[in-house]
Amino acid sequence: MTSELLHLPGESWRDLPAGQQPDWPDQAALREVLAELAIAPPLVYTEECDRLTGQLGAVARGEAFVLQGGDCAETFAGMSAEATKNKLKTLLQMAVVFTYAGSMPVVKLGRLAGQYAKPRSGSTETKDGVTLPVYRGDAVNGFDFTARSREPDPRRLWRAYQSSAITLNLVRAFATGGYASLDQVHAWNQDFVADSPAGARYDGLARDIDRALNFMRACGAEPEQLHQVEFFASHEGLLLDYEAALTRVEPTTGAAYATSGHLIWAGERTRELDGAHIAYLSGINNPVAVKLGPSTTPEEALAYAEALNPRGEPGRLTFITRMGAGRVRERLPELVKAVDAAGVPIVWICDPMHGNTFTGPTGHKTRLFADVLDEVRGFFEVHRAAGTHPGGIHVEFTGEDVTECLGGGMEILFHHLPDRYESTCDPRLNRGQSLDLAFLAAQML
Ligand code: PEP
Ligand code: MN
Repeated sequence: MTSELLHLPGESWRDLPAGQQPDWPDQAALREVLAELAIAPPLVYTEECDRLTGQLGAVARGEAFVLQGGDCAETFAGMSAEATKNKLKTLLQMAVVFTYAGSMPVVKLGRLAGQYAKPRSGSTETKDGVTLPVYRGDAVNGFDFTARSREPDPRRLWRAYQSSAITLNLVRAFATGGYASLDQVHAWNQDFVADSPAGARYDGLARDIDRALNFMRACGAEPEQLHQVEFFASHEGLLLDYEAALTRVEPTTGAAYATSGHLIWAGERTRELDGAHIAYLSGINNPVAVKLGPSTTPEEALAYAEALNPRGEPGRLTFITRMGAGRVRERLPELVKAVDAAGVPIVWICDPMHGNTFTGPTGHKTRLFADVLDEVRGFFEVHRAAGTHPGGIHVEFTGEDVTECLGGGMEILFHHLPDRYESTCDPRLNRGQSLDLAFLAAQML
């Protein structure tokens, strides 16, 4: 693959307004880093991206389900083998629950190995009378509240690339190295069973799966699909300089691909139809997604379909809806109906996190497990009524026992929030809450 930065089909974005871009103080350093990224090896391969499009195509046809999840914001410091393994283990446990309940393949899409940049509602933050630039993710500046840490540093883009590569290496090893084999369905739960209701419930399901595997083996069946999984990586394509520097043209077809991750999405704050982010997505051949909040109109949804999936390819375009529990039943139906009537194949995913965030009495941003669950329920209801496929869920979660979201089987309360609040951005479901959600949502499948 070659890097022809200035000749990419997707380069039309450069003339358009791009929201949420950092104000890099050192432009020379920025140019240097981008030049290095432009000749760096791709993090993902075009064949993998095409394979994900194919699998998402099955979701668009109603034959599979997507589980997309990970941190709101990955951090360089949080990138350990242990944390990545715990995250993948939790994702696998959730996926097993959905596969079993839905008797349907589950596409496993991490929100990881590239989720290092955040859109923010303001550009500054004030604490104790001191005002500093807001934290925009580890790819841009530091979370520590000091002037030095908050200054955007372009060298962080290179670290984001490296950290993504290291994380992807762990992901690939985990997926094929034996630990993701269904034989390990109990092992994923080992440290978890005793002290959590979700863990105990999972244990029952794992025993059922064991019995099914033993039965298959007794019949002489041992398909290799049981012994490895495929994880894909996705992130919000926020920093267009970074994304463009890692865009490569496939020489045989002339098609451009983002090689920073398999699936790239545009967020709720940067989805202007005539803006740079949508233009960038329209120029790459990866599967792409757009987050749709409650203000989205049916006309806009159709315009995204036209701009991002003009050939009507199943799996090319995903809508990740994040309406809020209180609005999903009111706002989602007209979007689903309009898109369905137009006959455009779309993967519909429910993000039950971002429409349900509020600040608790301790000053922590949080979410109620009951709201998260209710938005998922509303999403299923709307799709059932419209006769369309509720294609998946998108969650912010971690494999650790953090205390960031309220409720769930372990009953996290307001006064627990400070105990273990580790997110640098939005609150994540902890491991128990993630499994709880999987069980409750799987019943709706
Ligand atoms: C996010 O996914 O972390 C995010 C900022 O979401 P949204 O664009 O939907 O607000
Ligand atoms: Mn978030």
